Order: sequence, then C-alpha cells, then structure tokens
Amino acid sequence: MWFETRSLEDGVTHIWEPCVKPFYRCNIWHVRGRDRDLLLDSGMGVVSLRDRIAALAERPVMAVASHTHFDHIGSHHEFPERAVHRAEAAIMAQPTRVNTLADLYVSDEIFTALPPGSYSAERYEVAPAPATRLLEDGDVIDLGDRRFEVLSLPGHSPGSIALWESATGTLFSGDTVYDGPLIDDCYHSNVDDYVESMERLRDLPVRIVHGGHFPSFGPERYRTLIDEYVAGKRRPGCPAEVG
Ligand SMILES: [Zn+2]
Ligand SMILES: [Zn+2]
Repeated sequence: MWFETRSLEDGVTHIWEPCVKPFYRCNIWHVRGRDRDLLLDSGMGVVSLRDRIAALAERPVMAVASHTHFDHIGSHHEFPERAVHRAEAAIMAQPTRVNTLADLYVSDEIFTALPPGSYSAERYEVAPAPATRLLEDGDVIDLGDRRFEVLSLPGHSPGSIALWESATGTLFSGDTVYDGPLIDDCYHSNVDDYVESMERLRDLPVRIVHGGHFPSFGPERYRTLIDEYVAGKRRPGCPAEVG
C-alpha cells in the first residue's frame, strides 16, 4: 500500500505515504462531517489518493491546501471541490517544478521505495488544480456539524493557512508549526511575517495540534515550538539579522 491510515479521536483520520522519508512526508488529514468531509493536503500525487482511500470517494469532500508546496497538493486535482488561500491561487492553477519546490527537493533519495508505475524524479510535477474556492483569514469551512476557521499565517509561504476548530481545540497547523525543522528560507518565505504569525498563534487554546509533518502534539509542546522559533529570530543585539 502506498498510503497508510490511522483513525484518531474526533472523526479525524491521519493518512501518510510511508515510503516518503519523514522530512518530506506530508501529513494528510481527513475529517468526517455531516454534509461533507474535509481533506487537508493530499501528498505528492505519485499514486492516486482518491482511488486508494475508499472513504474519500464515498462522500463529498472539500480538499483544502494548507499551502502549495509539492508535498501537500499532489492529489488535489482528483477532487472537484478545492480551496486554497488567495495568495497561492495562481500556484494551484499553474504549478511548476520551481514554484512548488519540487525542483529543489524531489529526487529518488526522498523515498525508501520508489513509487510504482512510470514515476521518475526528473519528470515529476504537480497537476494543475485550480481552486473552486479562495480562502481568506476568518473564513469558515463548514462540514454541517463541524466548523473550521481559516487562519491566514504567512511566513513559510504567503498563502499558508491553519484550520482551527474551537469546539474541540483542534488546530491543523500546516507547515507553520510542526515538531521538526521549520522552513522559512524558501523563495516566497518571509521571516518577519512568520514571527508575526507565530505570535498570533501562541495564545490559541489548543488541545491537540496536527501539523503538516511529523507527529501531533499538545499545548505545551506547541508553545515551546513557537517560543523557540520566535526567540531564534529575535536575538537582542543582532540587528544585522533584520532584513
Ligand atoms: Zn511547505
Ligand atoms: Zn511541507
């Protein structure tokens, strides 16, 4: 099986690609809703997600992109309803090896076993998946019985978002906060924006955080990760780092 899945509490299923090495392996999140399901991110797209995961073909699914790096949006084209933050709509519609970071990161070395079929690292690219819904800060993704608020969190990339369900204290944080090396130096990253986004997130009353990579964590680890990032960027006496 290219994908593995694990059901968590609260109707959340974690889907991942075990043969992609951990640093590159995106967490794909599926949330059951009354009227529709939520899919946050979709992996590399080297194997059909919709064909392999029966639960995703059974019901209407809103496929949301936490942002548009290749490891997060590879299978979005398989879902008719797609949402992305306005700032990265152009990348979803016209992804390239450069603007999705595939050029920089995709090689045979990121896999422990190569994808089946005619896959080749040199030819890998993300299929265009123009958004049917553009997201902005404060928008709500409504599943009928569950509501996820869109938080716009530029920094890792300009259109990075998190989804916040206040009723359960669940935060899907994308690549903004996860328990691993955070990336703020790709072509459209912005460190000042990143710090601001982190400061905004810090006081959110989270109970559980599901990130874009690496294992999920609770509120204590969440605040430590945020504080460590912010402290690392704001060292007093090092004004040379600004700009
Ligand atoms: Zn990313
Ligand atoms: Zn990522």
